[in-house]
Amino acid sequence: MISRRLLLAAAALPALVLSAAPASAETLKVVASFTVLADVVKEVGGEHVKVTSLVGPNGDPHEFEPSPADAKNLKAAEVTFVSGEGLEGWMDRLITASGYKGKPVTVSEGVVTRTMEEDGSEITDPHVWNSPVNVKVWVANIEKALSAADPADAAAFKANAAKYSKTLDELNAYAHSKFDKIPDDRRKVLTSHDAFGYFGREYNVSFLAPLGLSTESEASAADVAKLIEQIKSERVKAYFFENSNDPRLVKQVAKATGAEPGGELYVESLSDAKGPAPTYEKMFRYNVDQLAAAMAKSS
Ligand SMILES: [Zn+2]
Repeated sequence: MISRRLLLAAAALPALVLSAAPASAETLKVVASFTVLADVVKEVGGEHVKVTSLVGPNGDPHEFEPSPADAKNLKAAEVTFVSGEGLEGWMDRLITASGYKGKPVTVSEGVVTRTMEEDGSEITDPHVWNSPVNVKVWVANIEKALSAADPADAAAFKANAAKYSKTLDELNAYAHSKFDKIPDDRRKVLTSHDAFGYFGREYNVSFLAPLGLSTESEASAADVAKLIEQIKSERVKAYFFENSNDPRLVKQVAKATGAEPGGELYVESLSDAKGPAPTYEKMFRYNVDQLAAAMAKSS
């Protein structure tokens, strides 16, 4: 890109070379593994990037069947971002199939992760983005990678990252303002799978789920029976669906326990443009509002 810039500068009139705003490099072709990450990359990259998400709106980032078009997009990418921590189990296969020569940037590197026990083994919880505190780590990693790929626009990436980090601080303050006043024993909800661990850690909310950390696992009859007992004994009153998962299991558990539907949550996938969660910011606020309203009701 440097040589391209020099060529542009050489071709331009001297007045342009002296202009205060440096000529922008060409738009970077960027691929992100799923919609939530793609949105945050857009915030940091602004007009200097063209971001394509592999998993689409309302899609499940754990399980993904890439199309030939996805392989083509990946091969053409100048920078590729994944969240990491075991979320995108399909990525290595896609890299091999596509002939992509780069190495994806893992944006969750540096997040203080939490582990959970699943089927007797400890695994890292990949759903880091459900706390905006963690998304600030993403932003720093994204800024670093974009600036390395396109140094000419580093100042813009830095300014965008600073601005968006402020937005994330506001989201965090918003969630605290909603939850901190709710009594501890009411901060309990039922969801489809364990995607709110970091959210729960930040805002002291307990999430009970029939599925484990990944939607790839299946709940056994014994797991479901245990969960039903737990929900009854802890008097969990509200249950939530997820936009990207099959709601049948959570419905079944809810029916057996008498918990009331709280609505739909956007846990790991944005909605399309017409839905209530087309950006990370809107998704987070929507989830906070839904959860806080259900907890306020369930007295
Ligand atoms: Zn998940």
